[in-house]
Amino acid sequence: MSEDKNDFWDALNHFAKMMDEAEASLDKMAEECPHDVKIAVVRWAMRHIVEHAKEGGSYRYLIYDRMGFGPDAYGPLCNDGIIISNEFDIQQMDKIKEIIKENKYDALKETVGLCDEPGCYKDAGCGWPSKNGYRRTCGEHYRMYRKDEW
Ligand SMILES: [Zn+2]
Repeated sequence: MSEDKNDFWDALNHFAKMMDEAEASLDKMAEECPHDVKIAVVRWAMRHIVEHAKEGGSYRYLIYDRMGFGPDAYGPLCNDGIIISNEFDIQQMDKIKEIIKENKYDALKETVGLCDEPGCYKDAGCGWPSKNGYRRTCGEHYRMYRKDEW
């Protein structure tokens, strides 16, 4: 290997080590952060992430325009931020649920969190033990069946 290639790999390894140290420092700051401040920051971040999921946009749009950060935040927020920006799309899940309902793809209902009651395609917001095993149903079917089992 030529000397230039060694310099390149040395520089890349040095950069990776610096990124690991920066991420460890941020994790330590978050762990030491006062509890109420941590809740406020996580709440704030979740609100922006859900708005982003509903309205869409790039990772840069999420951190610069929605959250108000500058380029200094790009690196530290990049790993998880890009995953969220690229994969988390509430409207896409709604479209998938609609297709499952229209075509009666009941085998997929559990995977996308729809009520396990045959013929029902509402979101399953309730998980509960029943006589016949654990169920995940909408609120309507939870109330309908639970009152019979109490
Ligand atoms: Zn239901």
